[in-house]
Amino acid sequence: MRFKSFACFVFVPMLLTASLAGGQQPQTAGASKTKIVLLGTGNPGPDPDRSGPATAIVVNDTAYLVDFGPGVVRRAAAAFDNGIKELEPTKLRVAFVTHLHSDHTVGYPDLIFTPWTVGRRVPLEIYGPKGLKAMTEHLLEAYRVDIETRTNPDGNQRGFPEGHKVNAHEITPGIVYKDANVTVTAFATKHAMESYGYHFDTPDRSIVISGDTNPTQETIDACRGCDVLIHEVHTPAFLATRPETFQEFASKYHTTTPQLAELARQAKPKLLILNHYSGLSREELFADMLARYSGHFVIGRDLDVY
Ligand SMILES: [Zn+2]
Ligand SMILES: [Zn+2]
Repeated sequence: MRFKSFACFVFVPMLLTASLAGGQQPQTAGASKTKIVLLGTGNPGPDPDRSGPATAIVVNDTAYLVDFGPGVVRRAAAAFDNGIKELEPTKLRVAFVTHLHSDHTVGYPDLIFTPWTVGRRVPLEIYGPKGLKAMTEHLLEAYRVDIETRTNPDGNQRGFPEGHKVNAHEITPGIVYKDANVTVTAFATKHAMESYGYHFDTPDRSIVISGDTNPTQETIDACRGCDVLIHEVHTPAFLATRPETFQEFASKYHTTTPQLAELARQAKPKLLILNHYSGLSREELFADMLARYSGHFVIGRDLDVY
C-alpha cells in the first residue's frame, strides 16, 4: 500500500482541501525543546516512501529511538541533513524496541554497525522484550568476520573497538530508563508476541508510542491527556481487502480507525499521530478518521518533525 506524501491537519475540515492540493508541511514543535522525528512510518511492505517503523524523540542533545525498521540509519542521516544535528548517525546510541517482529528490527544490524563504521565509539544501549538478548548475540555472531576484520591490527575501526558493542536490556512494565532528559516508562500492549508501548516524559512534553497493538486500557492510561500519542491504525475498508487469515490476525493484534477514535476520545492526546498505518489510500484513511474523530490528528510521513 503506497501513499503519496503530504500532511493533513484537522483543526478545520477546510484544511483538508488545502493539504491535499498543496502538500502542506506539518507544524514543528515551535519553542518546545523536545522534537519527535518520524524516521519511518511504514509497514512490512517495501514502500520506498515509507521506511520501516522507527521514531526519534530528540531532547536537548540526545536522540532516543523507538524501533529500528529497515532504513533507520539512512533516515536518521536524512534528518541530520534537514538540520536535526542530534540524529547524526554516530550519535545514535539509545533505542527502545516495541516488539521483535522483523519490520521493527530488520534495521538492528544497521544500527549496530553503520554508525560504528563512521565513528561511533561507545556501545549501544537497547531496551526491549525477552528475546532481545538472543537476537543481539546472534547478530553479533553473524557479523563476526566483519567485526574481526575491522578490529584486527589492520582494521579501520581498531582505534575504537567498542562502537559495535551492545548492552541489551530485557524489560518488564514500569520505568525502564531515566537520565537528565527523559524518563521512559514501558507498558504492556496486546500484539502477537511480548510487546510494549513507551511513555516519554521530557522537561516539556509527554509522548506515548503504541507500537503494534490492539486497543488497550494501558495505552489510554499511559496517555491521559498527553501531548502526543503516536498510534498504529488501519481502516475497515483496507482490512476488507486482505486475506481472511490477516483479518483474523488484525482483529486480535492491530487497531482499526473506529477503535482508535474511541481510544483517543478516552486518552485525550493534544495531538494524535497516525503511524504504521494502512488504508485504501491516504485520502481514504484521512476521511475515515475525520468522520470518526473530532480531535487534532495528523497522518505521519517519513521525516516529519513535531
Ligand atoms: Zn508487529
Ligand atoms: Zn509492525
